[in-house]
Amino acid sequence: MPPAYPRSEERIRMVEQQIAGRGITDTRVLAAMREIPRHLFVPAPYDRDAYADDPLPIGNGQTISQPYIVALMTGLLRIKDTDTVLELGAGSGYQAAILSVLAKTVITIERIERVAALARANLAAIVAKNVQIIIGDGTRGYPAGAPYNGILVTAATPQIPAPLTAQLGEGGRLVAPVGGRSLQDLVVLERHGSRFIEARHGGVRFVPLIGEYGWEEN
Ligand code: SAM
Repeated sequence: MPPAYPRSEERIRMVEQQIAGRGITDTRVLAAMREIPRHLFVPAPYDRDAYADDPLPIGNGQTISQPYIVALMTGLLRIKDTDTVLELGAGSGYQAAILSVLAKTVITIERIERVAALARANLAAIVAKNVQIIIGDGTRGYPAGAPYNGILVTAATPQIPAPLTAQLGEGGRLVAPVGGRSLQDLVVLERHGSRFIEARHGGVRFVPLIGEYGWEEN
């Protein structure tokens, strides 16, 4: 049994109202969102609002995504407990923690060293043993861990970085916010041999993915 973290009533309400209430029915995703204590991933003073329906600042100009968006993107990956998943943009480590409940192995890449240190400390606090944090440019992917059953991009990209599609395994799914610097479409790619089936799931707003196959720094 996982430890029962404080503020469980707020998490139950968050899942009921913001996530199940908006049509997400995947019971594994709902259970993971009830289990992981989001308030431990949000620095003070914002931690008091950790279960509100909002993204929140985590320092260094970065954000932890709105709970609904975390649940939506996680559900779109359709993760199995034998899967290896790559995340771009570790941020607070919260999304990686949710993935760690659902997948066998999670590799998450973060380009800002201080943010990666925050993610590492947060994930250690909840003893997420199946998450590896890599510091670097995630737009190049992480060939050492490929092929991936799922790839989740948690920052806005002008196009899907080519190295990521190359590292996606057969039948694998990639979820990414693709579009402009301030507004994007949530795109899902599913790999079938050399064919990629694309679907779009509405508008989202993410901070930019900065790197060789993403946006330039300024
Ligand atoms: N998944 C995070 C969480 O659960 O808190 C939220 C991610 S935040 C919206 C986007 C993150 O992507 C930031 O921490 C940012 O530094 C990082 N990032 C931007 N470009 C990147 C790149 N090329 N490689 C890796 N991380 C990148």
